[in-house]
Amino acid sequence: MKALVTGGAGFIGSHLCERLLGGGYEVCVIDDLSTGRLSNIAHLLDSGQIEFVEDSVRNRVIIEPLIEKCDVVFHLAAAVGVQLIVDRPVHTIETNIHGTEIVLEYANKYSKKVLITSTSEVYGKSENVPFHEDDDTILGSTMFSRWSYACSKAIDEFLAFAYHKQYGLEVVVCRLFNTIGPRQVGHYGMVVPRFVEKALKNETIQVYGDGKQSRSFTYVGDVVEAIGKLAVSEDAIGKVLNIGSDREISINELADLVIKMTSSKSGKDRISYEKAYGVAFDDMQRRVPCLERIKEAIGYQPKTSLEEMLEIIIEDLKGRDK
Ligand code: UDP
Repeated sequence: MKALVTGGAGFIGSHLCERLLGGGYEVCVIDDLSTGRLSNIAHLLDSGQIEFVEDSVRNRVIIEPLIEKCDVVFHLAAAVGVQLIVDRPVHTIETNIHGTEIVLEYANKYSKKVLITSTSEVYGKSENVPFHEDDDTILGSTMFSRWSYACSKAIDEFLAFAYHKQYGLEVVVCRLFNTIGPRQVGHYGMVVPRFVEKALKNETIQVYGDGKQSRSFTYVGDVVEAIGKLAVSEDAIGKVLNIGSDREISINELADLVIKMTSSKSGKDRISYEKAYGVAFDDMQRRVPCLERIKEAIGYQPKTSLEEMLEIIIEDLKGRDK
């Protein structure tokens, strides 16, 4: 089996490549290195285990033959990270919508199964946790760029299901909740690497808003394992499935846990969203997945505890400083 991984040099993409190689796939990566980094896949390139194409999925001349010669497409290429979304809203909307349009168009032309990675942002401002896949999406005003990300990913989902319904294309949509692990960087948002980096330097950790907003974090290894299993699950075809963990933690508690686990002397500072992102900002207060559907499809159960994930990330970031 030959897999095409779009966005394969990104944080999650690079872990997925390793999982697929371990599962016997041949892997080809296309990544424009906008947020992905060659260093994430350097070990796979050096050992000649993957083919790498540096380009955008929006480049039709390049993407068409790559899709034609693979058996399955894992579509991860997207503009991600709250800071990036706020700073580059046009880029976010165009990348996420046009990129997926093109991938689905060629996947349909050559009848190739596609796994689309979507996001828990699609649930929007609902606080009705846990979020079930068929829940309503409750998005904020179009004045806040943040919701353009949720909307762009929702359009990707609509389009994937449209191809499935109208042409019978095999699609699986995965809604990822906050995924963390080695290789994730804090430049584009991403609270965990930001907090750990600050704690390791004994610098003040910035908690946005009142810090009572919560998230549930999932280990990247558990996420890519689930994606790998979903790719071969008959039950998942034509469905949207949450991938996440149901352990919820407030951002305040997360900061305290990181400080404790790094034995850091860092203090915490509360800053307004407006100051943090440079524009008025509308946050999600809670985000917890219902995991019944994915349990039923592939027997999914996240294995890595929050403390274990943080331990691995702390070691990874300590290593990067050397
Ligand atoms: N956050 C924070 N300090 C930071 C970065 C993020 O307090 O340095 C907060 C952010 O406002 C949000 C949560 O941490 O409530 C998770 O942010 P992230 O950007 O990681 O992902 P999100 O879940 O918002 O997409």
